[in-house]
Parts: sequence; C-alpha cells; structure tokens
Amino acid sequence: MAVAVYPGSFDPVTYGHFDIIGRSSAIMDRLIVAVLNNSSKTPLFSVEERVNMLIDVTKHLPNVEVRSFDGLLVDFVRKNHADVIIRGLRAVTDFEYELQLSQTNRVIAPQVDTIFLTTNLKYSYLSSSIVKEIAMYGGDISAFVHPFIAEKIRAKFAGNQ
Ligand code: ADP
Repeated sequence: MAVAVYPGSFDPVTYGHFDIIGRSSAIMDRLIVAVLNNSSKTPLFSVEERVNMLIDVTKHLPNVEVRSFDGLLVDFVRKNHADVIIRGLRAVTDFEYELQLSQTNRVIAPQVDTIFLTTNLKYSYLSSSIVKEIAMYGGDISAFVHPFIAEKIRAKFAGNQ
C-alpha cells in the first residue's frame, strides 16, 4: 500500500493545492494532507481552521485524510508509516528550495522519498500569499479558491472571524 504525505501551510488551500491533492490521491492508495503548525510564521488562519477547510474541499476523496503536524516532517512521515512526500512545483523559483528540502530530508530519513508533481499550467502563478494580498485589497478571488474558502477569507479581512 503506497501512502503519501502532502505537507504545506495551506493558508488557505487554493485551487493549485486542490489540483495536486486530486492528482496525487489518484496515484496513491492513501494520501495524508499534513498542515504545518509553524509557530515562527503568523498565519491568517489557525491550524484548526486550515485543517477544517481542507477536510471540506477533500470530502469527496475517500483515500484522503487531513492532519496537522509540528516538528520534523520526516518524523511525521515515519509515524504515519508513509513512503513518500508529495510536493508541487510551480516554476524554477520553487526548484532550488524544494531540491534543498528533499535532499535534506533524504539525508535524515533515507527511506523517505519525495515525488514532485508539476503544477497544472492553469495554476502555475497561484499561491496562498497572492490570494491573501488580493483579498486584503478587496479584489475578486473567485478564480483562485473554492467559494466557501473565498467567503472565509473575506470574513477574516472584514474582521468577522
Ligand atoms: P509551504 O509553506 O510548505 O510551501 P504551501 O501551502 O505554500 O506551503 O505549499 C504546499 C505545497 O503545495 C508546496 O509543495 C507548493 O509548491 C505546492 N503548491 C502551492 N501552490 C501551488 C500551485 N498553484 N500549483 C501547484 N503546487 C502548488
């Protein structure tokens, strides 16, 4: 049984992440989307909010589960008896960081491999930070995130949540 972990901040989940989740869940027997609880970053959404949003957008995919984690990614991978880490690659700008990350992980956990999925061209420009920036200035984010996620972002910036 091939089990993969797709880690990230997902602050919030975009159509780009969603595309990677759909494609990797079709290749793997089980996919664990792992939401990083990183105390050094100040996210817009709490880890619980990010997990719940991901649960909602993946509820039609029976082999996908969503969990949060802190500490070392490879420890989470090993604890969950997973074989591979999934990462998305959008552009060459992602490459250097992703290469460094996967090579480091390989040194500290040689049995864990990283699989890269290239972005769907439609979403190659898309990032959570861009979405937040547009939303902050009241722009239309409907092309980037699910409608109910867009609503949650709007509510955040309006100070309602
Ligand atoms: P991180 O802070 O770990 O990079 P993100 O939530 O920004 O967390 O991204 C998680 C993963 O999803 C990363 O591998 C990133 O490259 C990938 N990703 C983000 N946006 C897209 C996109 N539009 N298309 C494909 N992959 C993406």
